[in-house]
Formats: sequence, structure tokens, C-alpha cells
Amino acid sequence: MTDFTRSPREMDLEARTQKFIRDVVIPYEKDPRLGAHGPSPELVAELRDHARAAGLLAPQVPEEWGGYGLNHRETATVLRASGYSLLGPLAMNCSAPDEGNMHLLDKVATPAQKARFLAPLAAGTVRSAFLMTEPDGGAGSDPDMLSTTARLDGDHWVVNGRKWLITGATGASFGIVMARTGDHATMFLTDMNAKGIVIERVLDTMDVAIPGGHSVIRLEGLRVPASQVLGAANEGFRYAQVRLAPARLTHCMRWWGAAQRAHDIAVDYACRRKAFGKPLIEHEGVGFMLARNEVELLQTRLLIDYTAWTLDEGSKATTESSMAKMSSAETLFQIVDRCVQVLGGMGITADTQVSQIFTEIRAFRIYDGPTEVHLWSLARRLQRRHGKTAAGWQP
Ligand SMILES: Cc1cc2nc3c(=O)[nH]c(=O)nc-3n(C[C@H](O)[C@H](O)[C@H](O)COP(=O)(O)OP(=O)(O)OC[C@H]3O[C@@H](n4cnc5c(N)ncnc54)[C@H](O)[C@@H]3O)c2cc1C
Repeated sequence: MTDFTRSPREMDLEARTQKFIRDVVIPYEKDPRLGAHGPSPELVAELRDHARAAGLLAPQVPEEWGGYGLNHRETATVLRASGYSLLGPLAMNCSAPDEGNMHLLDKVATPAQKARFLAPLAAGTVRSAFLMTEPDGGAGSDPDMLSTTARLDGDHWVVNGRKWLITGATGASFGIVMARTGDHATMFLTDMNAKGIVIERVLDTMDVAIPGGHSVIRLEGLRVPASQVLGAANEGFRYAQVRLAPARLTHCMRWWGAAQRAHDIAVDYACRRKAFGKPLIEHEGVGFMLARNEVELLQTRLLIDYTAWTLDEGSKATTESSMAKMSSAETLFQIVDRCVQVLGGMGITADTQVSQIFTEIRAFRIYDGPTEVHLWSLARRLQRRHGKTAAGWQP
């Protein structure tokens, strides 16, 4: 049986988050400290002070690290509410890549690593980066193409390679670097100001809401003490799986909130604005778009909740999270696109949040596995399942 029963603390946190986003965060959406490569460090600190005061900082992390130790279902409810403003997850310290990194550190870091790296990250006083993707024919959709290498030299590892599209690297305190160690991969914890880390440039990108933007980074003889191997050496690909499903799903949660915001703005416009003698929503072409949005928001929410429940039941939810990510990215993008259309010319202006949500959500169809890669891998599973079950039998 699938159980979606809502806990009292989940409902309380949802209501408090909704109020916090509406009363405190949304007024910051026109703040001049929002630059082309994300909000300034001062703005991030100010937003987090507000979240801290409201008891809403990093609600998803275990109590030991200052959160509420929410399960995945409860996290889904709270993160959806946080996503109602593009600044909400950042304010509440539950945005990418920090939120995924906190989850990974909590699951695999040593006690000393948790004290040094996880504690300040969960407290919202530092930011982090996750360095996996590579230019120059290295790892992208296919992680097996990982070309950054690390070799042991005494009690240090020496890392060489290039990474790109690394979110939040500028201004991050530390990073988790994925490198090849022989036939395996290993994750390393490194200070981002270490000698050997060169930020070549911050890319100009469609999305601008994440602090530090997305960087191209050269790792040039980076020396990492053996004590800063995250967890254990040669476990990098396995740890990537530990991060993968929950981190994919939290993206779906946050973007669901943003799509709901765009939908609410579009419904409001369609009910007030008239054309040809009646409100836009009474024209079937508009009303059906909004009705379809309503259905698809519910479908997506249920898919997120189902996958979260599967994780809470102890499953790795590899297939479910792949389906949820693929479906959410495509569906939420289409919902927001319809909202732009319903708003007419207003939809492409910065007078509402809809145009920014539309621009920001586009990349979600690419990161954490492009849509086509999820479909391809689901099709491979189908083929394998057919190979196992269809011997001698045809439908
Ligand atoms: C906004 C943003 C933030 C990011 N942040 C980070 C970060 O912090 N850290 C990090 O390490 N990486 C980050 N990335 C990188 C992201 O993980 C990669 O973009 C993603 O894994 C895809 O890799 P790629 O860009 O190299 O695309 P490629 O591997 O070059 O693929 C290009 C396209 O080919 C198609 N394709 C590939 N394989 C298949 C297949 N098997 N079947 C069908 N079609 C296929 C897909 O349409 C895909 O979009 C970020 C990316 C974006 C856009």
C-alpha cells in the first residue's frame, strides 16, 4: 500500500514555509544584488538570517545538523513550498548543489569530515560545489568517460583534469571532486581556494538564480590529503548513486513549486483580463491550457510523493527517480510555457516572475540526466526485462 498520510510537523512546516516565502522572500525578488551570476554573498547571508530566525534553515537535514530530520515525503512537501520563489530554496539552504552535497556527506563522510565540512554547510554559513562534469570529451551524460585522474603520492592524492558547468564554484568554501583512480572513481573533499584549483571562467548562462553561476575549472596538480578522500577510496561511482536519486527528486520538488507559482499568476491574469467581451479563462483555448496545467501539477506531485515514499520504504528508487525526473522536467517546463502563452505579451516581460521561471527551468531538462538519457536507460531496462521473462512466450 502506498501511504501519503501527512504528518502534523509536515503540515506545520508547509504552512510556515508558505508564509515565509510570501511575506519575507518574495519582496527580495527585485533586489539589485541579484546579478548575472546569481545573488551576491551579502544577499544570500541576509536571506539565510531570515530563514534561521523563522526556524526554516535546512529543514531537511538530520536534527544533529540543525534541521528537523525530515523523511523524503515530508521533505517533498516543504521543498515544494520553498520553490514558490526562485530565491526560496537558497534562503532556506535546501538548494542545489548544497542540499545534495549535505545528503551525501551525511551518508558517507567520516565523523571528522562531517564536523569540518557538513556542519558549516548545514548551518548555511558556507557554500559548496560538486565537480563531476568535464569538457574536452570527458564525463557528461556518460560518467564512464570520466577523465580527471588522481594518483597517490605519499599521504596525498594528486588530482589533474578539467571540469565545467560547476554550479556555485565561485565563492564556495569547498568542493567534492570526482576523479578516476585506476578502474574506479574516488570523491575528494577540497578547499576551493587550494593551490591547484584554477577557475578559468564563469560561464554566461540562461539561468542566473544560483550564487556563483557555473564555472569552468582546471585542476592542476591539486594535492588532497588522504584524510580528505570522501568516505573511502574507489567508491566514487557507488557514492554518486547515493547522491543521485534523492538529489534528482529534490530538483523536482523545488521546480514544482516554481511551476505552481507561474500557474497561479496565469490563472489570476486569465480571470481578470478580458478579450472579445469576456475573461480570457472563458475562452476554451485559454481555459483548457490552465485546466491541463492543474491536472499535470497534480500528476507530477503524486509522482514525486510516490518516489519519495519509495525512498522512505528503503528502496534506492533508481528507476522511480529516473521516471520522476524525466517526467517532471518535461511536464513542468510545458506548464510554465503555457503560462507564458496565457499572459500574452506580459509573459515575456519581467513584470511577473513567469518569464524568469521559464528561463530558469529550461536547464532542468538537461542536468541530473538529460530527458533522452533517462528514456534510453528506461528502454534498456525494458529490453533486459523482456530478455528475462519472454523466453518461449509472446504477448
Ligand atoms: C544549469 C546546469 C548546472 C549544472 N551543474 C553541474 C554541477 O554543479 N556539477 C557537475 O558536475 N555538472 C553540472 N552540470 C552538468 C550536467 O550534469 C550535464 O550537463 C549533464 O550530465 C549532461 O552532460 P553534457 O552536458 O556533457 O551533455 P552530453 O553528454 O554532451 O549530451 C548532449 C545531449 O545528447 C543527448 N544524449 C546523450 N546521451 C544520450 C543517450 N544515451 N540517448 C539519447 N540521447 C543522448 C541528450 O539529449 C543530451 O542532452 C550542470 C548542467 C547545467 C545545465
